[in-house]
Amino acid sequence: MITYVSAEPKSSRREVIMKKEMMDILACPVCKGKLELSVEEENEKEVVRGSLRCPRCDQRYPIADTIPNLLPPDKRDNTQT
Ligand SMILES: [Zn+2]
Repeated sequence: MITYVSAEPKSSRREVIMKKEMMDILACPVCKGKLELSVEEENEKEVVRGSLRCPRCDQRYPIADTIPNLLPPDKRDNTQT
């Protein structure tokens, strides 16, 4: 049985959408450890806003508009601290 998560007319765009099942494959980019998800806003399918936290590195990775930002802190813009 095939389950279609979403029926998009074009699937040319490949972005990582933050779904809860993504937690199984997401890992901290620094230590590859497990991340903790905290949800601020979600819809039926995705986490819209929130953050992923690595307890080992004590580092937070923001989720904005369903896109998780898993760049290591030193590769990010340091415009906001
Ligand atoms: Zn880590």
